[in-house]
Amino acid sequence: MGRKLDVRNPRNGMIDATIDAADESGIASAVERLRRAQLEWVRLDLTDRSRRLEALADTLHQSRADILSALKIDTGRLRIAEMELAGVIASIRGWVQQAPDLLPHGWTQGRSNLAIRHTASFVPYPVVGVISPWNFPLTLSMIDTIPALLAGCAILLKPSEVTPRFVTPLETAIKSAGLSDVFAIVQGDGETGSALVAHVDAVCFTGSVATGRKVAAGCAARLIPAFLELGGKDPLIVLSDADIEHATDAALRGSILATGQACQSIERIYVQRPLYDQFVSRLCEKADAVRLTWPDPNDGEIGPIIFDKQAETLTAHIEDARDNGARILTGGRVENHGGGLWLRPTVLADVTHNMLVMRDETFGPVMPVMAFETEDEAIALANDSEYGLSAAVFSGNLANAEEIASKLDVGAVSLNDTSLTGVFFEAEKQSFKSSGLGASRMGASGFQRFFRRKAIIAQTAAPASIRSFSETGDSPA
Ligand code: NAD
Repeated sequence: MGRKLDVRNPRNGMIDATIDAADESGIASAVERLRRAQLEWVRLDLTDRSRRLEALADTLHQSRADILSALKIDTGRLRIAEMELAGVIASIRGWVQQAPDLLPHGWTQGRSNLAIRHTASFVPYPVVGVISPWNFPLTLSMIDTIPALLAGCAILLKPSEVTPRFVTPLETAIKSAGLSDVFAIVQGDGETGSALVAHVDAVCFTGSVATGRKVAAGCAARLIPAFLELGGKDPLIVLSDADIEHATDAALRGSILATGQACQSIERIYVQRPLYDQFVSRLCEKADAVRLTWPDPNDGEIGPIIFDKQAETLTAHIEDARDNGARILTGGRVENHGGGLWLRPTVLADVTHNMLVMRDETFGPVMPVMAFETEDEAIALANDSEYGLSAAVFSGNLANAEEIASKLDVGAVSLNDTSLTGVFFEAEKQSFKSSGLGASRMGASGFQRFFRRKAIIAQTAAPASIRSFSETGDSPA
């Protein structure tokens, strides 16, 4: 019997569920089973695997009510839970449509030797381990799983122990689609995740930088690839020629959507001096108008903090900023309502880069706003970070915004909007600096990275004899 782990309900703080954490021997035998089943799975052609994944899209739709009711308890959010499920179903259909064009076709004649031609064979990793966080539990469990399955890999998924309720109805949908031999789920915490890293053939990890480093070290010791999608401290630069209504709308949405519990949330805002006062006062007006989804979960915009320990980080960052001279203009205090923890949109002014709120990931609805004079200063401030996930630039001059984007040390930049990587998945992006490692999970490489390249090289003329390499005779020109 595995260790029992308690699960807290984010809306009322009650421990109302438990999970059995898988142990190392459970993981080893699950990987063995998946490894055997993958031999059959990879022999199917892409059309057959596509059909099986489309069946999963159908069974996810049929299990909609059960998955959503569990996911809504896991996250305390209703509409976003529905968007997560709809997004996963759409992503299955999207990958199935694109995949045939992302595989190699035919032979290529050699350039250096016209008699030699080559073709690529794409060989999937047999068993991919997926480890996901609590902020978008379903989306981030499936985002790498779907293209990897389509590529011919088997999957062992370990979702976060903080939000595990959606797993049981998800497993039902997987079983109904006939995929449980190649797509298995284990429950558990860090110990379980670390055991998974010790057995699979490649790892897709989404989570914090601190855990990402441990996963990377485990993968390095086994010489298996680690695809890491980690934390961020995304900056937004607003130039004085920006549309103030658009900029404040996007700043607010980008910072507080999903209670700021998103890796691509805006966590630092830099506004050019002539616009600064007006920007801050408009942002505060809009922040004040945002409502908690309490007491009615069907009304309001900002849900509970999912993970109670995260509330401690939010409080620590706000208190550190206040103690070091920042002004708290809105929100500013974690509130307990009915046992759940909530933070209203919190605008901070007079912040500096010595404060935690400008350096470490906050992961909450907190908007520290700082003034700058020149574009070079804004670029230097935005780049003064351990993180390099993404960023945003607002300007009335798109070419100038693009020029600034080219100087930001991050993997994606939204122009005249914020956090576009959360809604648009077609552009390849990698995480820079400590925000991650490995090929893009978006765009073509989101599928192609699950294959190792095997070269098939054919000689069409007579093979060279050893005499071609003899020390006697003329040297090659
Ligand atoms: P976390 O690192 O605490 O946990 C993530 C997962 O790793 C969980 O399933 C956890 O059980 C597991 N885990 C913990 N220790 C482990 C170990 N030693 N070995 C293997 N697995 C282990 O992160 P979290 O608090 O669940 O998630 C929030 C973090 O995720 C934030 O930093 C956020 O920015 C990041 N995130 C990044 C992206 C992205 O795409 N870049 C997306 C969402 C969240």
